[in-house]
Amino acid sequence: MFKKLKEDYLNKHGFEAFCLKAVLFDMDGVLFDSMPNHAYAWSHAMTQFGLHMTPEEAYMHEGRTGSGTINILTQKYWGRDATEEEKEIIYKGKSDVFNRCPEAGQIPGAAPLLVKVKESGCTPVVVTGSAQVSLLDRLNENFPNIFQADRMVTGFDVKYGKPNPEPYLMGMKKANIQPWEGIVVENAPLGIQSAVAAGLFTIAVNTGPLPDEVLMESGANLLFPSMHALCDHWEEIFDCFQ
Ligand code: MG
Repeated sequence: MFKKLKEDYLNKHGFEAFCLKAVLFDMDGVLFDSMPNHAYAWSHAMTQFGLHMTPEEAYMHEGRTGSGTINILTQKYWGRDATEEEKEIIYKGKSDVFNRCPEAGQIPGAAPLLVKVKESGCTPVVVTGSAQVSLLDRLNENFPNIFQADRMVTGFDVKYGKPNPEPYLMGMKKANIQPWEGIVVENAPLGIQSAVAAGLFTIAVNTGPLPDEVLMESGANLLFPSMHALCDHWEEIFDCFQ
């Protein structure tokens, strides 16, 4: 099955062969089970400003920059973009709620997969829209000896954010790879769109409440129901794509 998907990808892009060197991981909903907190914080904070977002909608916006998400809501309810000051106040409101949530644990299956990826000689890279200052510390605490500071793309690095290809193009640059040398692991529709637009083979893992179709329609090449399931198939995928 993987061979056929690989051939389809190579044909579509006109690439000759795959030579897997790096795996680019999204963070929220892929490595950490943080999406329920984000969804709660967005929907809760927005209500305070007369803007309404259900937790389900928050999953559809996952990966967008905070400023981008706020503008979509203010356009819908106020008919205009938010001012810089409004964005700051609203985002602070969301962050305050988020920071009061209990710290999210790891997504089950993420840790053993990261170890397998590293042991197979591939470079693990994080590509996230998150802009928390202590991100690398937290990654290192949870997944020791996997990630490097110079192989991370965070909310501090990007201007446009997902679904723009920018974050994954930057991730490829940091990993020093071409599209046929990397695979993306994503859980969100906009993240998948970003990775696909960057020309990368994209594996969706459905760790949230959205239907599988939404992730496949965003352009994912392959879908697993969990990180455990992807971890179980890693050797097979690696053999096929190296
Ligand atoms: Mg995510």
